[in-house]
Amino acid sequence: MNPSNETGWLPDFLYVDGEFESDLAMFATPDGRITRFSRDPDDLRRAVRLSARAMLPGLIDCHSHAFQRVIRGRTERRSAASRDTFWTWRESMYHAANLLDPAGVYASARMAFLEMLLSGITTVGEFHYLHHGPGGVPYEDRNLLAKEVLRAANDIGLRIALLRTAYVRAGFNKLADPGQSRFVTPRAADFAGDTDSLRSYVRRAAPPGRAWVGVAPHSVRAVPLDYLREAAAYAKTDNLPLHMHVAEQPAEIEACLAEHRARPVELLAREGILDAHFTAVHAIHIVAEEIRQLAASAACVCACPTTERNLGDGTLPADRLFEAGAEICLGSDSNAQIDPLEDARMLEYNLRMSRLERAVLSPGDGREALAKRLFHCATEAGAASLSAPGGRLAAGRPADFFTVDLNDASLAGAGRQSLLSHVVFAAGRAAVRDVYVDGQAVVRGGRHRFQDEIVREFAALQDSLWGAER
Ligand SMILES: [Zn+2]
Repeated sequence: MNPSNETGWLPDFLYVDGEFESDLAMFATPDGRITRFSRDPDDLRRAVRLSARAMLPGLIDCHSHAFQRVIRGRTERRSAASRDTFWTWRESMYHAANLLDPAGVYASARMAFLEMLLSGITTVGEFHYLHHGPGGVPYEDRNLLAKEVLRAANDIGLRIALLRTAYVRAGFNKLADPGQSRFVTPRAADFAGDTDSLRSYVRRAAPPGRAWVGVAPHSVRAVPLDYLREAAAYAKTDNLPLHMHVAEQPAEIEACLAEHRARPVELLAREGILDAHFTAVHAIHIVAEEIRQLAASAACVCACPTTERNLGDGTLPADRLFEAGAEICLGSDSNAQIDPLEDARMLEYNLRMSRLERAVLSPGDGREALAKRLFHCATEAGAASLSAPGGRLAAGRPADFFTVDLNDASLAGAGRQSLLSHVVFAAGRAAVRDVYVDGQAVVRGGRHRFQDEIVREFAALQDSLWGAER
């Protein structure tokens, strides 16, 4: 191509192939594909100078329920039950899910997605299960709410995998309860038909590579086995990402043993569902054989530590998963917080607290070995889980990146030798200054151009949902 059409960037430090490099510029085509890296003095002069900035590949959030942003900060109290748990929190979440109209779904998704961009996230996997109108009556367009979520991502410039969720029942031998009615598609054939029609919409309406569809049977609790087989077969036909909540709570294991005489991962292995396109979200309460099965099948595990600590779910055995060779990616899940670097460091910190030792997840004693592994979870492992085009800065990949301010109070004095550890273990979200997707700036100087409007509309939505209670 004619180099004069290229855009180039020259930060103080550029994270490429697992190292921070200086005096290296990255170039991309006008449509945002990385073409090359250069140290040529002429190229360095031509590139846009990003002073006091380090540039890193955009972070990948593999598991979000964007609408749950509306209950942030509203469930941090003991409910009427004597013991507050995931299950009591879920009642509040169902209540919120049943209040949202299509405009509310859009406004809450846009708010969550804005915060993701401000955190350095450039791609989200949105595990979308709110499908129908109040009482479970389908909208005339059965994908109306999924399209609102896609529109929110597109309007603010976030890349998105819409993981279209199948939900059938409350549990083994239980019909769906009224709180779940908007999630439910009783027949697998309808789920496949609705997913087909969303996929053709995305192919028509979204710029190439900016949005795509995956398949997400909600959990072994919510989807019976014959339906799960059909949904998995549907995904495998076209190698779509296949995501599923797995082993988040002990009660789910007990129900799965009662229904299938197998633990959840064992069941998925037995059914041939685990493979490199499968991601087990949470996978907290798993035993040695399940760890072996996840690793052997090249399936990914998606950890959501900020949500898991919020809900009291437990700690992912990330040490044993890594020892077995499994991949781990990260998700913001309930969006109680959106801070992917906090998720990355919590993978490690949770284990420090239980094992009473440090650097538990470090694959060796190499400089920054631990930070590199955790950053890999937040980037390349996430891209693989979602079949996303980003994850690292390399020729042929999209120019999806974020910069941090080297003079931010949380990073000051870092220097190249420990910069990644500073970013992973200490960077505050305010250190994130610029975020680019496909080579286009969507966040500049820590702000998005629609930020004020998005926040204002979200505040109005919260007023309408919670009224005087707010
Ligand atoms: Zn989830």
